[in-house]
Amino acid sequence: MNYKTKDLKTLQDTLISKMKEESNEDSFDILFANDSFSLKAIDSKKAIFVTDSSSSATFINQSNYPLKIKNILDNLTADDLEVEIMSSDDFLKLSQNDHKKQNLDKKVFPNCSLIQTYTFDNFVVGSSNKQAYLASLQSVDYPAKYNPIFIYSKSGLGKTHLLYAIGNRYKEKYPDKNIQYITTNIFVDTIYNHFRNDQNIEIESIKNYFYGVDLLLIDDIQFLADKKSIQMIFFDIFNILVSTGKQIVITSDRSPIELKGLEDRLVTRFSGGLSLNMTPPDKKTLREILNLKIQTHGYKLDDFDEEALDYLAMHHSKNVRELEGALTTLLFSMATLKPTGNISLEFVQEVFAEENKIIERKGAVSINSIIDDVASYYSLTSSQLRSKVRTSQIALARQIAMYLSRKILNMPYQTIGREFQKDHSTVVTNVSKIEERVEKDNSFKKTINELTKRVSKQ
Ligand code: ADP
Ligand code: MG
Repeated sequence: MNYKTKDLKTLQDTLISKMKEESNEDSFDILFANDSFSLKAIDSKKAIFVTDSSSSATFINQSNYPLKIKNILDNLTADDLEVEIMSSDDFLKLSQNDHKKQNLDKKVFPNCSLIQTYTFDNFVVGSSNKQAYLASLQSVDYPAKYNPIFIYSKSGLGKTHLLYAIGNRYKEKYPDKNIQYITTNIFVDTIYNHFRNDQNIEIESIKNYFYGVDLLLIDDIQFLADKKSIQMIFFDIFNILVSTGKQIVITSDRSPIELKGLEDRLVTRFSGGLSLNMTPPDKKTLREILNLKIQTHGYKLDDFDEEALDYLAMHHSKNVRELEGALTTLLFSMATLKPTGNISLEFVQEVFAEENKIIERKGAVSINSIIDDVASYYSLTSSQLRSKVRTSQIALARQIAMYLSRKILNMPYQTIGREFQKDHSTVVTNVSKIEERVEKDNSFKKTINELTKRVSKQ
């Protein structure tokens, strides 16, 4: 039979009250008080008890208590049990040694292992992720100097990449140490499975397993929200690791204080080390990431026009994973359509034409929506803005639309020019004309602010 935590407590209480009936020794209440003697785990073969000190474990083991305990327990459970009594320190050591010997890693979390191709070498560093990068390096070079290290960002910005990089570097540096990378979802599922099967002993052994881990990398901790019982188990694991100087690195899609549905004591612990935020990369970093990924796929940068790559990066600037996805789409189109010569801006635009239409339909800001909005603000039509007509009202609206496309979408000048049948340098001049006027003319500045809000759909 298997037992849940609450069953263990009931069993322990019944056992102790039965023992008390038979005992008249003065020391009984001290030895078997609730917090100094507890049933840690039991299955059909063995029951493990833990005492708060090694002297009381020795004392009990030298007395006839173990036999009494066995008799009562055998009666209660209808099993033939081996009874083991040890100090909590020995219990901890034993479980750590156990786990060093047998590679429980595979058994406990079979689907969680480090992916070796994500390293610090292929993580591009920019102002948006520099602090998280440096802290990650520190977690390997000076384990537990900051504990835990808590890295948070929106999705697709390199959190998992950093965790793998930490794990891979740590493995290289300390080959004998135990590393556990785990996603919070797998952690939760594993524990739930054991709850469901009433396998209390298994939960104890999972906890003990973590006590043997030297570096814990736990991904997407936000999924611990609203799962109280799992949070309690994680809290124990967390405390043991931190108090024994083991490094923990946690990632999340939001900061500790923004994590709703998490117990306060966990939030406090998470904030107790170093919390770092990563934001979307700036343009230069994005391009470096894109360049690196192109080369990783075995392509040469020379085969692409700069503008084509700028366009790709700019249209997926909020999420590196999406940028990678777009690159895969582009490389696939190149392989199937076999364009001649360099990959041009036009080719890339064509590949993503459908996707752009979908984005536009969803109401995202695009150069088309900017032209529409500015035109309607000035009671003009979009085609007037796109035309070569140069009346002052149309020319001004056109310049503003160019300026906003540049400011809001960060579009290349040449792409903007194409929409208005103008060359690169005309766009540059027009954008700077508006910039200058904004600086000097306060009421014009108000108009631009108002328009910015409108076209950004705020
Ligand atoms: P998250 O865990 O934050 O959702 P990931 O770590 O899964 O994001 O990153 C998504 C993809 O983007 C991965 O393929 C990763 O290699 C890549 N990536 C993100 N940031 C960088 C970076 N700074 N340098 C190189 N690749 C990056
Ligand atoms: Mg991730």
